[in-house]
Amino acid sequence: MNTDKSTQVKIVEKHIANLHAGYHGRAEGLFPAPDALGDFRWTDDLILSTYYQAEYGRPPENGMEYRTGRSGGGFDVLDFKFLPKVDWLPTEAEIDISLPLNKRGEGRKITIDLPIYGGGMSYGSISEQVMLSRVMAAKKWNTYISTGEGGYPSGLVEYKDNIITQVATGMFGVNEQTIKYAPIVEFKYAQGAKPGLGGHLLGDKATDTVAELRESVPWVSLFSPFPFHSVYSVEDHRKHVDWIKTTNPNALVSVKVSTPTDVDMVAVGSYYAGANIIHLDGSYGGTGAAPEIAKKNIAMPIEFAVPKVHNYLSNENIRDEVVVMASGGVRTAYDVAKIIALGADGAILGTGELVALGCTRCSNCERGRGCPFGLTTTDPLLSQFVTPDWGAQRISNLYGSYAYQLRDILRKLGLTSIGQLRGRKDLLRYLGSEGNGSSEQDEQG
Ligand code: SF4
Repeated sequence: MNTDKSTQVKIVEKHIANLHAGYHGRAEGLFPAPDALGDFRWTDDLILSTYYQAEYGRPPENGMEYRTGRSGGGFDVLDFKFLPKVDWLPTEAEIDISLPLNKRGEGRKITIDLPIYGGGMSYGSISEQVMLSRVMAAKKWNTYISTGEGGYPSGLVEYKDNIITQVATGMFGVNEQTIKYAPIVEFKYAQGAKPGLGGHLLGDKATDTVAELRESVPWVSLFSPFPFHSVYSVEDHRKHVDWIKTTNPNALVSVKVSTPTDVDMVAVGSYYAGANIIHLDGSYGGTGAAPEIAKKNIAMPIEFAVPKVHNYLSNENIRDEVVVMASGGVRTAYDVAKIIALGADGAILGTGELVALGCTRCSNCERGRGCPFGLTTTDPLLSQFVTPDWGAQRISNLYGSYAYQLRDILRKLGLTSIGQLRGRKDLLRYLGSEGNGSSEQDEQG
């Protein structure tokens, strides 16, 4: 851009003010929702109600459907069998939504304050400002985000105690130091939105700083192959885990896999290789960069994969020694609770956090300079549209709203901890093929 510095500052300030006013107005319903906003999974109401929660830290009371979408399947046709109102726990009841991340007898004990952490989105796929927003919110909630495959931009190092280092096939941003930084190291074997395809960062987004962290050259597209060519067996995987444990004996190990039909076998193999966390990534996640053909046609939805793995691990008598985290299509606090009732211990968010920062699900993440709202971009000017303090407050507010809703769901089920909900499929009911959202049962009692 051929403008002087002060003009650029004014342009950025004007855009920030307009964007913030727009998010606020949309959340308040001051304008009708645009016809093209959302789809059947991420509906206009879910997007706008996420804006609302990011503004106010609580679910909206203006009639927006903030619990489910209209896909006609999965989470959208499940609801809770809440108790009659007279049996609900009192609002002031102590309800524990914390989650221990190491259930093995040995190793460091880590507990997060809510059963949620932030999934891997790399520097390059998103801006440093968005990464900072996410990790500042994670620190406030005593939880984590993952680096994704791209390393630590310098501003993130001071938050390393709340950051998971991801090791993926391209090894971008992976070195002895970034493994030693991490309380948790995550092996990404596959990504639910594009299993079998690996990762891909287009050259337009591989700026000087992105390339430096990835030990590449600027403006060259970067591919992470699928799969790890060093891993073809549980024994090979065990060597990977040993490598991390040798470099950083205190680190917990997470294994991120997609959801093929034999995902239960993958999970049990990961456990025996030494994983503390099995991260199942279903097929509906990913930013707008994931190809639709992959998202919609490869691997299982997370709602099928989680009960399959939960049952298998239970039958093997190892379910209580490993944590199962679920991602890929978890959009709301109700989705978090439903996936736990289906058998997960907790959920991992990505898209929801971007929506809290203003994402409209327009699928332009990988094109040209990237996201017009400054989210999935490395463009130095566009990136400034997100200021970390503002972004952290919005994500933190979203977490606050989720924590409130999770406690409320548990209270209406008569449960006092999130652990009591795990695997309680009997507390869910199927709304039928016409079902497309939560019933009014909770209001009726
Ligand atoms: S708003 Fe930005 S982050 Fe969201 S889908 Fe569009 S380009 Fe991607």
